[in-house]
Amino acid sequence: MNPTLVAINPEEHNVEINLVYASPDNISGRAIYKRPLCLLHRDAEMALRKAVTNAGNMGYKIKIFDAFRPQEAQEMLWESLSDSSYIADPQQGSNHTRGTALDITLVDSEGRDLDMGTSFDDMSPLSHHFSDQVSPKAQANRLLLLNIMEEAGFEHIAHEWWHYALPENEAHALIQSVQLAELNPMHQ
Ligand SMILES: [Zn+2]
Repeated sequence: MNPTLVAINPEEHNVEINLVYASPDNISGRAIYKRPLCLLHRDAEMALRKAVTNAGNMGYKIKIFDAFRPQEAQEMLWESLSDSSYIADPQQGSNHTRGTALDITLVDSEGRDLDMGTSFDDMSPLSHHFSDQVSPKAQANRLLLLNIMEEAGFEHIAHEWWHYALPENEAHALIQSVQLAELNPMHQ
């Protein structure tokens, strides 16, 4: 396994995980991952632990929809959408392929997703951070998530309320599938 990637699991990290690209229930309409592996670069894993603590102190839990994404999966998603506002062109590389990005929401103590105004992967202007077209409650929930994640060292991007990544850093190279021979869901 690539030594920079760490497996995230619900018990150890105190998170919920619903990997949407491991089922057909995503924007591409097909399962992109054959195995539901949730992996992050070790730097992102450490920051996630901090975010989980921050969220827990306020009575919330983090739910992860996606984390590390192999290059082939990025290419499959690109074929499905080809809109660079929402999917990084595989030629440029995605922070998901560096293992430093994750897509998340917050759940309350009853396990209910907080109202964020749109679902994850809603590729529309309503999903933009600071959109004033969603309810005030949803705007407040997005800001809550923003505070939790920025305090832990993550940055947000303009178009997707659910996406957070570590600041770009030369230590965070794109991780090629050949480095993941054992784990790569695309080569089984
Ligand atoms: Zn993302």
